[in-house]
Amino acid sequence: MAFVITSPCKDEKAAECVEVCPVDCIHGDEVMYYIDPDTCIECGACEPVCPVEAIYEEEMVPEEEKEYIEINANFFK
Ligand code: SF4
Ligand code: SF4
Repeated sequence: MAFVITSPCKDEKAAECVEVCPVDCIHGDEVMYYIDPDTCIECGACEPVCPVEAIYEEEMVPEEEKEYIEINANFFK
């Protein structure tokens, strides 16, 4: 169970989360940032630093944001 970045990231993208991730598993494109579920060690460091609360533990992702679980994973395929 990795952490997942959801839609509020799209307009913010300041990358505070990237700065604190100890395993460098957060990468982005022109749209938003994504977490690599195979590399994330679930340390939780990224979640509190996100100013728009876009980051959730996988099982805590709100229903309307669940598609982002796959969107995050697909970015690293
Ligand atoms: S801190 Fe939040 S909004 Fe900023 S890049 Fe990370 S997930 Fe996106
Ligand atoms: S939970 Fe930890 S390892 Fe996973 S993305 Fe966030 S900071 Fe990186």
